[in-house]
Amino acid sequence: MKLSDILNSADKPLFSCEFFPPRTDKGEENLWSCLKELQAINPAYISVTYGAGGTTQDRTKGIVSRIKDKTGLSPVAHLTCVGASKTQLGELLAEYKAAGINNILALRGDAPEGMNSFEAVAGGFSYATDLIAFLREQGDFSIACATYPEGHPESKGGVADDIRYLKMKQDNGADCAITQYFFDNDTFFRFRDQCDAAGITLPIIPGIMPVGNFEQIVRFSSMCGAVIPAWLHEKMTPIQHDLDAVKALGIELAAKQCRELLEADAPGLHIYTLNKSEATIAIHQQIKDLL
Ligand code: FAD
Repeated sequence: MKLSDILNSADKPLFSCEFFPPRTDKGEENLWSCLKELQAINPAYISVTYGAGGTTQDRTKGIVSRIKDKTGLSPVAHLTCVGASKTQLGELLAEYKAAGINNILALRGDAPEGMNSFEAVAGGFSYATDLIAFLREQGDFSIACATYPEGHPESKGGVADDIRYLKMKQDNGADCAITQYFFDNDTFFRFRDQCDAAGITLPIIPGIMPVGNFEQIVRFSSMCGAVIPAWLHEKMTPIQHDLDAVKALGIELAAKQCRELLEADAPGLHIYTLNKSEATIAIHQQIKDLL
């Protein structure tokens, strides 16, 4: 189903999940068993990330096509501007169109390994705003974009820049935005108020990262600029080597965060699953009265 139709017809908040394309046969097997388990909770859509290199990029296409054909779930393919010219992106989009994939999460992407900063290739795009405008010209695509309630690490003007660019993403044709993960809901509520004041009307869907391995989340957060608040450090650090305890606390905290967001009218929740279904299903179970 097209994302715009999912958004327009929703009479309750959307619960969605993100996966990455596995690199091994075992990982692939795990992905399909997670998706099978998730069918029971019927996520509004499943998004699949897009890597920096050629082979992982091909995997995204293969996986979204199979999600569409084999599971009945609605896939959203992430797409970045990294390493591709406008012509190459146009060719990939034509393949998506032919395969009946019409939901794209349009991103700039990060600098590939070994490069200090993102550089557009000749004939490519420098920002997600440009990719969104291009996608809109292709017709037929429903477009999601990314946004950063705590500010994108490269945004020189802080969150104000991110709000300005989110408005441009909306004006260029994005149907909804999914946020970088955050742990303090007040940050999201402040960001949402500022977006409202800036004339941003598209649904801003909070991205939720259930903590399953605290050291891993600390590492991710240092790369993507997400803030780990002192209270989370205090709770997780003493138990960080007991993965079962971390997982249980991670689920409890994420469910509490999700409940508070839904009670404050968040239009949906997008769970960063890290290709695991257990936490996602447990969180859904605890908030299903609000979904
Ligand atoms: P942009 O919105 O283009 O922003 C990049 C920087 O440029 C920001 O600092 C912004 O302030 C600035 N900027 C934006 N627009 C303009 C403009 N028009 N003029 C001047 N400056 C501008 N990465 C992947 O590689 N694959 C994925 O699948 C993936 N999925 C993601 C999903 C979500 C929900 C999120 C939140 C992030 C995801 N990322 C993914 C990470 C993302 O690629 C990085 O955060 C990347 O650094 C920025 O991408 P963007 O689309 O937000 O970029």
